[in-house]
Formats: sequence, C-alpha cells, structure tokens
Amino acid sequence: MPRLTLAKATARLARRIEGLARVSDEPGATTRTFLSPAMRRANALVGGWMRSAGMSVTEDGAGNLIGRLGAPRRGARTLLIGSHLDTVRDAGRFDGVLGVLLPIAALEILKSRGVGLPYGVEVLGFSEEEGVRFSSAYLGSKAYAGLLGRSDLALRDPDGVSVAEAISRGLGRPFRRAGPAHPAGNLLGYLEVHIEQGPVLESRGLAAGVVSAIAGQTRARVVFRGRAGHAGTTPMRMRRDALAGAAQFALVAEALARKSPPLVATVGRISAFPGAANVIAARAEVSLDVRHPDDGARRAALGRLRAAARAVAASRGLAASFEVTQDNAAVACSGELTGLLARSVRSVQGSCPALASGAGHDAVVVSRLAPVAMLFVRCRGGLSHHPDEFVHRRDLAAALRIVVDFLGRMAVRSER
Ligand SMILES: [Zn+2]
Repeated sequence: MPRLTLAKATARLARRIEGLARVSDEPGATTRTFLSPAMRRANALVGGWMRSAGMSVTEDGAGNLIGRLGAPRRGARTLLIGSHLDTVRDAGRFDGVLGVLLPIAALEILKSRGVGLPYGVEVLGFSEEEGVRFSSAYLGSKAYAGLLGRSDLALRDPDGVSVAEAISRGLGRPFRRAGPAHPAGNLLGYLEVHIEQGPVLESRGLAAGVVSAIAGQTRARVVFRGRAGHAGTTPMRMRRDALAGAAQFALVAEALARKSPPLVATVGRISAFPGAANVIAARAEVSLDVRHPDDGARRAALGRLRAAARAVAASRGLAASFEVTQDNAAVACSGELTGLLARSVRSVQGSCPALASGAGHDAVVVSRLAPVAMLFVRCRGGLSHHPDEFVHRRDLAAALRIVVDFLGRMAVRSER
C-alpha cells in the first residue's frame, strides 16, 4: 500500500467533511437531529470510512456509531476518541464532525506507515449532543456512559414522540438500559477534537490549543412582578414597570461579567406580560445563563446576581423571584492526558495555549467514565452553529499531525 502522506490524508479529510455536510434532513442546509433519516445515512457513510480504515463497526442501542480497532494483546486498555455527528439546524460543517473524522484519518496514516498501537482504539460518533430535537443535550454520550435514565427516555419532541419511541422507530428495536460501554479501569481516556467556537486561537495566530476545563453552567429564570397600567395616563413616578426592572437587571448582569473575566453572563430572552405596546408590563420573565470554569467563582457570581435582582426590584417597587433551572458543575480535563496532548501540540506548532471551554461538549458526560482531554482547533472568526463555520486546510493538517503524534505518545504511556 502506498504511504499516505499528510497532504493526501488532509485532502481526503476535507473531502469527507464536505461530503458529510450534504447529508441533511433539510435540502440546501446541514441539519441532522437525533435518529433522523439523515443521521441514519451519516452513520452508514462514516461507518464505511471507519471500515476502510480497518475498524470493526457497530451501533449501540441509542444510535451511537462505534469504530473499533482491537489491541494486539488481550487485556490491553482502550483509548476513546470522538465527538458528535448530529448538528444544530442549518449548521456548519465542522462542529462535532471534525472530532469523528479526524481520528479516522489519523489512524489511516498510522496504518499506511505500518505502525500498530499497543492499545485498543474506539472512534465514537455520538448520535445526539446538540439538544435540538428534545431540548436536552448529550443523549448519545449519556447512553454510551450508561447514564440515559427514565426521565431522559420520557422526554418528548415537538411532535409528541418520546426518546424511547424515537429509538424504537429509528433503530427498529427498543432501548434496553445497559451499564456503561466499558467497565471502569479498562479505559486509557477520552480525546475530543473540536473547533474552538470562539476567537482566542485566531487572535493568537495559532492552529490549536488544549482545553484546561469545561465551564460549569447555571441557568436561572428570574421573574419581576409589578403592576400593569395605562401607558398614557400613569405618571412615570407612579409606575411599577416589571420590564424596565428586567432590562436593568440584564445590564447589571452584563456589567458584573465584564469586570470579572472569564465569567460570562447572558440574558438571552425577556418575556413581558401582558405584552402590549400601550400597557406597562406587570410581569417580566428573564432567562439567565452564567458560566465559569471555576465552580466557586460561578456560585459567588450567582449569589451577587440573586442579590442584584432583589435590589433592582426593591428600588422599583417590584417583587423578584430567582429560580435555578439547570446547574452543571465544571469539568476539569485530566492533567496527565492534557499534558501529553500539549507536548504533541508544541511539537507541531511550538507553543500550546490552554483554553477554558465556555461551551459544553460530549467530554462533559464521558468524564464520568474516563479521564478526558480536548484539542481545540481554530475556526475562522470564532464562528460556529452557522453555515459559514470554517477551518482552514492548514489547520486541519496541523490538528491531524497533533493527533498522530498524540497516539504515538499514548503508546509509550499505555505500556506503563
Ligand atoms: Zn459540538
């Protein structure tokens, strides 16, 4: 077999990324949701590439695609590498996909060089990460880790189809709850390659960096209650305007986060009631999303925002309630695996920045099963969840070299 050069492997990887972008539930856009017809076709297509890279291919009970390269000796541990194959609506080509197709390309390079790894490798294409269909993320990796529970299976999509029904219909067999895909101790770790979805690498002129931690995240619903009134006849000084209170709170949250990086705080939605142009709002509901790589700092910020909501309400004659609806702790990446990955990054591009990930990733769930490390790859303008999402061919090549190098370093480590 002719030796697969890096340039050829990169060109093939780019072609496959283009090809997969055309596998879609919506013509003219890239959209693949949990167990949709396009997801079934994506698994078939990527499964074929896994097979041609020498892997045996299976699909688990939640539609996760698993390509396995066995270890030369029994009892050797397994390295997991993967990401998700589902997408948001009208998505880009790289989010998730890069983390599944790039490791396949890396294994093809090793194969063409005649390099065998002393450990097993599983390349994972998770069936659901984006939370589009069921408004709940990580269904694929949760199933893989044995964490898909009764409440997950009962979630319903906008058509009233439950997760359990979607699995039965999509895969032709009911979901059987099982434990994690691997017993504890059998795994070397999990590597996820993902586009940065932010501007830091681009601003530093670097193709790749490692992830130090995935930020913890709190979502809350803040409600301000005032009094409705006539927009023409109620004097300004006599108003108890819930919407103005909500707007003030949004500015307070923004100001707090601006002076406390890497804290980020977002008010993404304000709903006002009764919601008429000529009526002072009696009630305003505010969504709040707060993230920080350090859980203590996130909790402290949340305490200050809770107090700020009370203070804003008090100054305007309003009542405020503050309800936490979702709370995920930060996930620290494995120091040992990340250190090894950083060496690979430095060997390819000289320096290696460590970034905190503000977005959640499959690694959050897989961290319950194995130590995790993440490689971020520069994307143009930090743009993601958009059809213009773009990774330069040079950066694909750099990331490929980094992963090939990392697989070699893991070979040395796995023997210990
Ligand atoms: Zn993603």
